[in-house]
Amino acid sequence: MSVLPKFVQNSAGSCWLTENERENLMIRYRIREVIHEEQSAFQHVMILDSYDFGRMLVLDGVVQTTSMDGFIYNEMIAHVPLAFHPQPRRVLVIGGGDCGAAREVCKYPEVEQVDLVEIDECVVQVCKQHLPEVSGGLSDPRVRFLYRDGVEFVREMKDTYDVIIVDSSDPIGPAEQLFSYSFYEHVQQALKADGLMVCQSQSPIFHADVMGQTYRNISQLFPITRMYTAVVPTYPGGLWSFTLGSKTYDQPVAGRVSGKDTRYVDEGIIHQCFHLPVFIKQTLGEG
Ligand code: SAM
Repeated sequence: MSVLPKFVQNSAGSCWLTENERENLMIRYRIREVIHEEQSAFQHVMILDSYDFGRMLVLDGVVQTTSMDGFIYNEMIAHVPLAFHPQPRRVLVIGGGDCGAAREVCKYPEVEQVDLVEIDECVVQVCKQHLPEVSGGLSDPRVRFLYRDGVEFVREMKDTYDVIIVDSSDPIGPAEQLFSYSFYEHVQQALKADGLMVCQSQSPIFHADVMGQTYRNISQLFPITRMYTAVVPTYPGGLWSFTLGSKTYDQPVAGRVSGKDTRYVDEGIIHQCFHLPVFIKQTLGEG
């Protein structure tokens, strides 16, 4: 590592990625090797090999997913909504360039088409090449890779998808609009009459404002709105929230996740994840 990339510094003979999460919080990861670094048209993209979390995808200095804990997030954002829909045939993933969510969706034989709408082709290519633990080198013929802005894409879609998964990065830069009310309005219209959606709604501890606003936005658009959580160690605070909006289905279908070769999700998790701690219910005005 003769020339260190942006966001990686030398300190006492070792290399560290310093994630500036907030004004008063920095998270540091010791780095074994810089596998890939480039500035794409949209963001700074790195694959790093870290000591504790294995390989990690880092966008604009922020850890997105790792070979150690990526399966928790990706299974939770994919299997929970798919468990609610009795017959998901067409699925849209917005963002999700690490391919982990789409890879989980492909475990359902009844899914005929997965559209992965990612703004930055570079993320998909580097994850396929350098992060196989997350991407699985995704090459399922049912997946259509569309390199476009997800905000524009959903505006053009009406009554098309059974399930929409919004797997976005944090609400800054190109992902900012993926947290807006008007975006969710278009997501609602892009779903079929019995469709449902899920999005990652940030940390209940550090981003309670974004989480609460996302829940309120989705509640205004969908008759059934449910929040669930999981612990993802590399996300600030660990505890992470997801918000599901459904037009019709309000319960997971029994047995949907069995035999899906998962490492985190099972039938028990699908039910328990909706049981929210008191402070989250209070943030949502339901405590
Ligand atoms: N699991 C991760 C997390 O919570 O941090 C995020 C997964 S994924 C890497 C997020 C992806 O969203 C990125 O690859 C980014 O390029 C993509 N993205 C951001 N804004 C987008 C937009 N407007 N349209 C489509 N994709 C977008």
